Amino acid sequence: MRKVRGASLNAVRKAYNFSKGDLSMVIRLHYKIAAAVLLAVLLLCSALAFGSRHTQAIAPVDERIRLPIIMYHEIRAYNNNRMAISPYEFESDLRYLQRNGYTTISMTDLIHYVYDDMPLPEKPIILTFDDGYLNNYAYAFPLLKKYHMTAVLSVIGKNADDFTRVPDKNLDYSHATWDQLAEMARSGCFEIQNHTYNMHTITYKRYGCAKNAGESEEHYEKALTDDLMRCQQEISDNLGTVPNTFTYPYGNVSSDSLAIIKKLGFLASLSCKYGINLIDRNPDGLYCLMRISRYHDVSLSKTLSDAMKTLKYAK
Ligand SMILES: [Zn+2]
Repeated sequence: MRKVRGASLNAVRKAYNFSKGDLSMVIRLHYKIAAAVLLAVLLLCSALAFGSRHTQAIAPVDERIRLPIIMYHEIRAYNNNRMAISPYEFESDLRYLQRNGYTTISMTDLIHYVYDDMPLPEKPIILTFDDGYLNNYAYAFPLLKKYHMTAVLSVIGKNADDFTRVPDKNLDYSHATWDQLAEMARSGCFEIQNHTYNMHTITYKRYGCAKNAGESEEHYEKALTDDLMRCQQEISDNLGTVPNTFTYPYGNVSSDSLAIIKKLGFLASLSCKYGINLIDRNPDGLYCLMRISRYHDVSLSKTLSDAMKTLKYAK
């Protein structure tokens, strides 16, 4: 081989017993192969460059912030069930967070981190309460005050309206009134967000706020917009704040809703999908955030450690 490499074209022809025509064909073939290899390399480089631009918005798993969002519903002194934990359990959760270096943050804190470069604490966590039950006011509120912590409360506008009109003190089913919600918001212990005005229902007409099969996009957009804007208006009128986050009833996320939610000005949304969020500064990462339900008789420590296991599948 070494001999051939240093030889003249004639010598090469002789060595391989090629005719003149054969040799020029081999040379042309070599040029073609070299051109094809060069083209392939160029295509590969441009594909890699294109890919990196597209993935640039999502930071690697290790560089993103782990953000657990806990989902609570009711706190009851009696008649506990899977979704209704006791005040003692809630206080044990707050003690656990305090002892383990967690800092509760609001959705607004999270949005400021993503949009305005504001820092987040070392171990951030969001506590969310859905539906706006009176027992949140009765039990969660004093405990959050005691531990100087904050939570996100997603209210159903119609329930707040109904219980304001006809107050009821039954802690097993009543919802907080607008006055009580205003007191909770003013304290800084609760940030009030939107959980629909009157789409927190499962009827033959609709499942939560999801788009129906066969429903036109225009019809769905109008239905969702009318309902969510009514809730925004009620919250603004009664509390003087405008929610920046939408919480899906039953976690029933309809892919058709995303563009509408964004158009209505919501900067974030909460789903019931299970898992720990990995946050970077990509604004799209604020939609359909995952949550972890805290069930009765399952400690927050176990709830969190189970959820952390899902991170090994994180991309
Ligand atoms: Zn709900």
